[in-house]
Amino acid sequence: MRPDIEKNYRAVLAQIAEACERVGRDPSMVKLVAVSKTVGHEEIAAALSAGIRDFGENRTVQFNEKQELFPDANWHFIGSIQTNKIKDIVGRAALIHSVSSERALVAIARRAQALGVTQKLLIEVNVSGEESKDGIPTNQLDELLDRAEELEGIEVRGLMTMAPQGDIRASRAAFRGLRELRDSFISSYGASGRIRLRELSMGMSEDFSLAVEEGATIVRIGRNIWM
Ligand SMILES: *Cc1c(COP(=O)(O)O)cnc(C)c1O
Repeated sequence: MRPDIEKNYRAVLAQIAEACERVGRDPSMVKLVAVSKTVGHEEIAAALSAGIRDFGENRTVQFNEKQELFPDANWHFIGSIQTNKIKDIVGRAALIHSVSSERALVAIARRAQALGVTQKLLIEVNVSGEESKDGIPTNQLDELLDRAEELEGIEVRGLMTMAPQGDIRASRAAFRGLRELRDSFISSYGASGRIRLRELSMGMSEDFSLAVEEGATIVRIGRNIWM
C-alpha cells in the first residue's frame, strides 16, 4: 500500500499538539520541517497537497534539484556543510540549520554579501558531547557568536542539535541543554542585530515529542511522514 502522507502528517501534528499541551506551549510556535532526503518528487508533491510547506535536505545536489522543482516551498539545508558547496545553498535556503565552524560561517556571509541577501542560519551545537556528532562544542559557542556578530550578510536565528539515538534520557538532556544554552545567550545578545536566538531546531521522528516538551520551535521529521 502507498503511504498516506496526509494522514501521517496529521498524526505528527496531533502529537506535537499533545506534547505542547503537556507543558502549556502554543502549538503554533512549533514548525514542522519534512525531511525529504529519502523521497522523490512524487512524495514531495503529495506532501505539498497535504499542506506541508517546509522541507529539509542534507545534500546540496538534491537540495538544488528539489528546490528548483518546487520553488514555492521553503527549503531548509540540514546537512554537513562543505565550503565549496556553499554557493549552491546561500540565497536558496530558507534556513541553514547546520553551521558549526567559523570557516562555514565566514563563507556563507561572503556569498550572501556577493548576492546582496541576508542568509538566515542556525548554529549546530554538539550538546551531548558524543564524538561522532557534528556541531561545535558548547564551550565554543560564545566565540562563534561573537564572530557572527561582526559579519554582514547573515542572521543567526537560533541553535540546532541532534540528540543521541535510542536513549530517551540522554535525548531529553540534550534538548534541555540546548534550550538552556539558548536562554543563557539571549541575555548577552538581546533580540536585535544579527543574532536573534529564537529558534531551537531539535527533534526527529524518534524523539520529537520530547523535543517539543523541552522547547523545540522547529522539528525535523522524515520517516514518520513518509512511511
Ligand atoms: C534525516 C534527518 C532527520 C530526520 O530523521 P527521521 O528519523 O527520518 O525523522 C532530521 N535531521 C537531520 C539532520 C537528518 O539528517
